[in-house]
Amino acid sequence: VKRMLNPVRDLAHLLGQSSDIATSARRILDVLDLEEERSGTGTLPPVEGAVAFDDVTFAYDGGPDVLHGITLKAEPGQHIGIVGTSGAGKSTLMQLLVRLYTPTGGTVTIDGHDLTDISSASVRSQVLLVTQEAQLFDGTVTENILFGRPDATDEEVVEAAKSLGAHEAIMGLRNGYGTRVGERGSRLSVGERQLIALARAMLADPRVIVLDEAVSSVDPERQRLVLSAIRRLLDCRTAVVVAHWLPLVEDLDQVFVIEDGRIVESGRPVELFTAGGRLTELCDAQEGRTPRNTPGKDNAHV
Ligand code: ADP
Ligand code: MG
Repeated sequence: VKRMLNPVRDLAHLLGQSSDIATSARRILDVLDLEEERSGTGTLPPVEGAVAFDDVTFAYDGGPDVLHGITLKAEPGQHIGIVGTSGAGKSTLMQLLVRLYTPTGGTVTIDGHDLTDISSASVRSQVLLVTQEAQLFDGTVTENILFGRPDATDEEVVEAAKSLGAHEAIMGLRNGYGTRVGERGSRLSVGERQLIALARAMLADPRVIVLDEAVSSVDPERQRLVLSAIRRLLDCRTAVVVAHWLPLVEDLDQVFVIEDGRIVESGRPVELFTAGGRLTELCDAQEGRTPRNTPGKDNAHV
C-alpha cells in the first residue's frame, strides 16, 4: 500500500511550491488515508474485470437503507449503465465498487474476489472512479494528467491524450500542455476539463473504470470530442457508467434504472427505449442531448 501511494506523495511534494496544489494533493491524501482505515487488508490480484453486485444492501452509519438488494453484473469488457434521479443511490453504488464503503448485506466482487476483504488502495489500483468534480488542481495540463500515474513520463502523458483524440484540443490551449488550468480547472471550458480528466484516467489505465456523472453538461462544441474520448477510454475495459447523456447511454451493453435504492428496470438500452419506460423519461429530461449527435433517432425517444 505504501509503495503504491508513494508516487502520489512524491507528486504532492514535487508540486509543493504552489500552496493551492499542495492543499489539493493533501486533501486527496487525507481521503486515501481515511479509506485505508475503513477497508480490508487483502490484495486484489490482477483482474480481468468481472464486476458483480449480489443482493447488496447498504446504509450509511446507522441511517436507513439507501440500497436494497441490488444484484447486477458486468462481464470483463462490458459497459453497464446506472441511471436514476438524484438521491436514488447511484453514487453510493459506485463508492461500494471502489471500496470506499462496505456493504451492510450481500457482496460486491471483482473476478469473484469479495471486496470486503481487500484494501481500498489495492482495489483502486485496478478500479478507477472518475466523478463530475474531476478534481483538477491549479497546475498545468501535464501535471493534472500525471496525477493518474505520477511516475509516467511527459511522453506518456502526450501518448494518453493522443490515444483519446484530445491532443489537438490541448495543443490549442494558450500554452499547450504547459497551460495552467486554474483552480478546479476554472480557466478551461467544461469539455476541456472533461478531456483532461479522461486523459488522466487513460494514463492510469485501470481494468475497471467507473464514471459517476463525469460527463454531464458538456459544452456543445466539445460534445463530439468528449463522446469519442469516452469510447476510446472505455474500449477493452469494464465500465460502470452513471450518465443520462443519450448518445452515451445508447452505447452501453446494459442499463440498470434505480429508484430509491432498488433496480426498477434493466436491459439493453435499445429495448428499454423501445419499451418507453423510466429510462426514456430520465434520458429525455437531461440537457446536453443533441439531435446533431443522434441523427434520425430523435423520434424514437420522444
Ligand atoms: P445519487 O448519486 O443517485 O444522487 P446517492 O448515492 O448520492 O444518490 O444518495 C443516495 C441516498 O444516500 C440519498 O438519500 C442521500 O441523501 C444518502 N447519502 C448519500 N451520501 C451520504 C452520506 N455520506 N451520509 C449519509 N447519507 C448519504
Ligand atoms: Mg450521485
